[in-house]
Amino acid sequence: MKLYSTKHISADVDLKEAVLKGLPPDNGLYMPYEINPLPQKFWDHLDSYTFTEMAYHIAHNFIGDYIPSAELNKIIHEAYNFDAPLIEVGDYSVLELYNGPTLAFKDFGARFMGRLMGYFLRNNDKEVNILVATSGDTGSAVAHGFLNVEGIKVTILYPKGKVSEIQEKQFTTLGANITAIEIDGTFDDCQALVKQAFLDKELNEKLTLSSANSINIARLIPQSFYYIYAYKQLDDKSLPLYFSVPSGNFGNMTAGLFAKKMGLPVTKMIAATNSNDVFTVYHETGKFEPKQSVQTISNAMDVGNPSNFTRMMDLYGNDAEKVREDIAAYSYNNDQTADCIKKVFNDYNYVMCPHTAVGYLGLDEFVYENDLNPYYINGIILATAHPVKFGDVVEPLIEAHIHIPERLKSIINGKKQSVLMSADFNIFKTWLLSK
Ligand SMILES: *Cc1c(COP(=O)(O)O)cnc(C)c1O
Repeated sequence: MKLYSTKHISADVDLKEAVLKGLPPDNGLYMPYEINPLPQKFWDHLDSYTFTEMAYHIAHNFIGDYIPSAELNKIIHEAYNFDAPLIEVGDYSVLELYNGPTLAFKDFGARFMGRLMGYFLRNNDKEVNILVATSGDTGSAVAHGFLNVEGIKVTILYPKGKVSEIQEKQFTTLGANITAIEIDGTFDDCQALVKQAFLDKELNEKLTLSSANSINIARLIPQSFYYIYAYKQLDDKSLPLYFSVPSGNFGNMTAGLFAKKMGLPVTKMIAATNSNDVFTVYHETGKFEPKQSVQTISNAMDVGNPSNFTRMMDLYGNDAEKVREDIAAYSYNNDQTADCIKKVFNDYNYVMCPHTAVGYLGLDEFVYENDLNPYYINGIILATAHPVKFGDVVEPLIEAHIHIPERLKSIINGKKQSVLMSADFNIFKTWLLSK
């Protein structure tokens, strides 16, 4: 599997280098040269596959024989010991992607990446430092994905006071090879610090740095699995298929576009965002203008400069018209999101997290705007997090208590450990070198 940089300056790399480096030195993003359609045989057998069997075939379609099949199978079996059920909610279906250890869809990418890196580093003697900026859920997924993976140290940067208490607990209580840094600033500040570290010559000479954000290609490959898994679960596969994707950095969306390239018959993808609407503005105007992020109740999508936008532009040759053919885009504010959580609970007795609610609104508006009959489509909303993670927002809206899953209870009782730091690159750099 060969990958290129979207900037076309840095040399091509193989999968191991792309995964361990994260970002190419020219500051582009790695993209696979080929995303081949899955063979007809795969689609013919899809109904009989388990999640892991299906995932193996998709991963193999990307990776080929670069990783021995027994190893690839092992990675997939260890990573996916939880399900992604498709649930009917009113006229639509919701794909629940939050049954992993951190109760969010990022477990799909992070658990695969952690094990893939572990495999690539199995004979390494040099420690790898993974730097991650998180607006909430990436941090916990990556922390859990790498917890106790030998030869890897993880540093997580998160904006002070801007993630929920449960999110914070999920990546500050683990200890072992995981360190959390609380940055006095925004998520964009955290992301900028990480980006600058990767471009810093001295740091790269002294340390082996790697990233685990949605910019790492190892997270995108497995995120394509569940789009096809949703399709597998449909009763009538002949109806037009729509996915609404609650989006922030657009990794999830990009993975869906990969699935489409592999032959998943998607009629349209819907990019649903909160008030951080740079993609929606791009969709309307053809102009991409990154902004400061603003804080919302769907905080894992509070992104002012979506990192995977570059990959999407690469897929569509920078042509906004082509983007519009495949993707619709809508944005919603906090009030609209809150009303949707309330309405769906009252109408269908179904509890959504604020991100999922943004996705619900996107599908609903698309259906309305295009005058579609919901009975004659397959409309799927990706449920990206368990509502209990956002209990402080959701519980007052539904006026009910959300049951706390067992796997969360032990985390809530853990003790927070973090390093407080201002958003200053030199301080961050000194800290990294002193470790
Ligand atoms: C990260 C995240 C998103 C946004 O996903 P992207 O791949 O960054 O677009 C949406 N919802 C939740 C709960 C998340 O954690």
